[in-house]
This record gives sequence, C-alpha cells and structure tokens, in this order.
Amino acid sequence: MQGRCMKCKEQKEMTKTEPYEMKNGRQAMKGICGDCGTKMFKIMPGKKAE
Ligand SMILES: [Zn+2]
Repeated sequence: MQGRCMKCKEQKEMTKTEPYEMKNGRQAMKGICGDCGTKMFKIMPGKKAE
C-alpha cells in the first residue's frame, strides 16, 4: 500500500500498515514510510476498507 510521506513529500510504499480509526470515525491506515521511517497515515475513501 502506498501513502503520502510528509517528509519525502511524495508517494511512498507504506510498511507495517494497520487499520486506524480517526476521532471523527473515518477509517484510515497508519504505517511507516519504507524509505525514511517516518510515521505516515492514509485516509481511506468511502466506507469499506480494502
Ligand atoms: Zn518518507
């Protein structure tokens, strides 16, 4: 899975992904940038997480 890394400022492969529910109830995935090791997360569009 890919996500946007704030540090690399581009799409990076996200490792150690796990589901995460945001305070507002939205589903997201959190993980670690495979390149620099920064924590990153990706908000899942829609209701069903894949
Ligand atoms: Zn990165």
